[in-house]
Amino acid sequence: MTNLTGKTAIITGASRGIGAEIARKMAEAGAKIVVNYSGSQAKAEAVVEEIKNNGGEAIAVKADVADADAVKAMVDQAMQAFGSVDILVNNAGITRDNLMMRMKDDEWDDVINTNLKGVFICTKAVTRQMMKQRSGRIVNIASIVGVMGNAGQANYVAAKAGVIGLTKTTARELASRNITANAVAPGFITTDMTDKLGEDIQKTMLAQIPLGRFGKPEEVAKAALFLASDDASYMTGQTLHLDGGMVM
Ligand code: NAD
Repeated sequence: MTNLTGKTAIITGASRGIGAEIARKMAEAGAKIVVNYSGSQAKAEAVVEEIKNNGGEAIAVKADVADADAVKAMVDQAMQAFGSVDILVNNAGITRDNLMMRMKDDEWDDVINTNLKGVFICTKAVTRQMMKQRSGRIVNIASIVGVMGNAGQANYVAAKAGVIGLTKTTARELASRNITANAVAPGFITTDMTDKLGEDIQKTMLAQIPLGRFGKPEEVAKAALFLASDDASYMTGQTLHLDGGMVM
């Protein structure tokens, strides 16, 4: 079984969906968890309670990933609580879908700020500590649409393609300090984010998936756990496609 005992993991946007599942899986593997959230404190505290009830350690920390001061304060809080930062999972993300001709500037800016600039800000914020430790694991949750494109998601696709590129640069800049950076590119995973898509869109997506079903948050969490563990010690700058075979 994967062992993350003694490690501290900051997981952004971990109050629900894929992030919450990554928090649960990493806690089960022994890591101390920082459950980052920007919305519902109650949901974040519920994830913390669940981890504690299962014998793990966790704290909930509010920070908008696009706010550099708040993110720095979150990393300081993680250090005070647990004494190291070993794993960062950049999971927080939003959608503001619209056809490009109709997309407003603020729909573009909001998605780029959270989904791409947020990854840059959080990565920068943990890097100094990881460099001091001479070890670290950065796992970025991208999306398969960042590889294949998607009509109606110019902002989201540009951000996620950017995350894949940023992952490679992070990997190259930090490799000499024994810090790896890899990405997961999920396809269609059943969460709040995808539940809000209409039935027609869901049907169209399903038709493109060779495995014939949508993915589950725990399937993404298992990949993130692998990339954060010693099992992936010789792997950096890579993007794992978890999409039921949509892109081959
Ligand atoms: P979700 O909407 O259920 O969860 C997203 C989380 O991010 C929420 O907890 C939200 O509060 C948090 N968040 C949003 N903006 C934030 C901010 N500025 N600062 C901190 N937290 C913030 O969605 P999900 O499906 O669990 O998505 C998680 C990640 O997986 C996202 O990056 C998403 O783009 C990616 N992804 C999801 C799918 C899918 O099909 N569900 C597919 C590919 C990629």
